[in-house]
Amino acid sequence: DTLINQIAAGEVVERPASVVKELVENALDAGARRVDIDLEEGGIRLIRIRDDGCGIPAEELPLAVSRHATSKIASLEDLEAVATLGFRGEALPSIASVSRFLIASRRREDEHGAALQVDGGRVGEVVPRAHAPGTTVEVRDLFYNVPARRKFLRAERTELGHIEEWLRSLALARPDVELRVSHNGRPARRYRPGEADAAARLGQTLGEDFARNALRIDHAGAGLRLHGWIAQPHYSRASADQQYLYVNGRAVRDRNVAHAVRLAYQDVLYHGRQPAYVLFLELEPQRVDVNVHPAKHEVRFRDARLVHDFVFRTLQEALADTRA
Ligand code: ADP
Ligand code: MG
Repeated sequence: DTLINQIAAGEVVERPASVVKELVENALDAGARRVDIDLEEGGIRLIRIRDDGCGIPAEELPLAVSRHATSKIASLEDLEAVATLGFRGEALPSIASVSRFLIASRRREDEHGAALQVDGGRVGEVVPRAHAPGTTVEVRDLFYNVPARRKFLRAERTELGHIEEWLRSLALARPDVELRVSHNGRPARRYRPGEADAAARLGQTLGEDFARNALRIDHAGAGLRLHGWIAQPHYSRASADQQYLYVNGRAVRDRNVAHAVRLAYQDVLYHGRQPAYVLFLELEPQRVDVNVHPAKHEVRFRDARLVHDFVFRTLQEALADTRA
């Protein structure tokens, strides 16, 4: 089983940033309001994610680290309309098969917490462990037992950069959650929560310059809603790494939508310049397939043409107003 998990890890776990993503998404699925992320050596030596979510009962800890045990799909219908971020029950066993792994947790209603250690896929015994309500997952020495994979990890700074980039994209989508990051024992970043304060997050994540030069977008029609911000055409600091698209709250890459955005900017942007945007597209879950790739960076729209035209028209109109 360890081998199967390690193979699955090949798909889910590419680098420390993929571990952070899976663990933080689990924390959010658990309803966390605050997530602490402690890293050492770009996450290669240590990733520790602590949340204040619902916690896991002691007797379910072994289940959480076993393959295809997910508490998140109750029926096939759920599979159609995946509401939570994770749903495949593979992340924890995969990660635990290629690291020194520890999960500790307590539900608010339980008197005692518990912990379970997994070393390179070898699952230990559940032991009592004091813990505040919520869950901590520790991942040490990623790929220590898979030298071929470990070899492909880059320098500490590079791996940290990937983690920070992913966290920035998450911070934009979840302004309601507090995120605190430390690296090598020092506070590195803090995204403060603010319920309706998505605009403040925009400044915190992409810089005040972007925030000042952003146009607010919010348009609905044909069962679609597009909201967020796009940079004014004259905003000159835009780059390809200031392009964020979310479909039903999930950060994705989509060439179809990216094309629609570019087309909308076509007449207003100097040739060769990149548009900058943070856009949230909402539609009925049945109209989009998120299960295209295990890492879920891609989606497939049932009606790609409609989505394309909706995005194009919405942005074209918003940009036309800036020229009037
Ligand atoms: P999935 O998220 O696809 O269900 P995972 O392997 O990521 O699969 O997690 C397995 C299970 O462990 C989850 O379904 C959930 O029940 C539990 N779990 C993992 N992380 C947490 C957490 N931070 N808080 C509460 N429960 C968790
Ligand atoms: Mg998960």
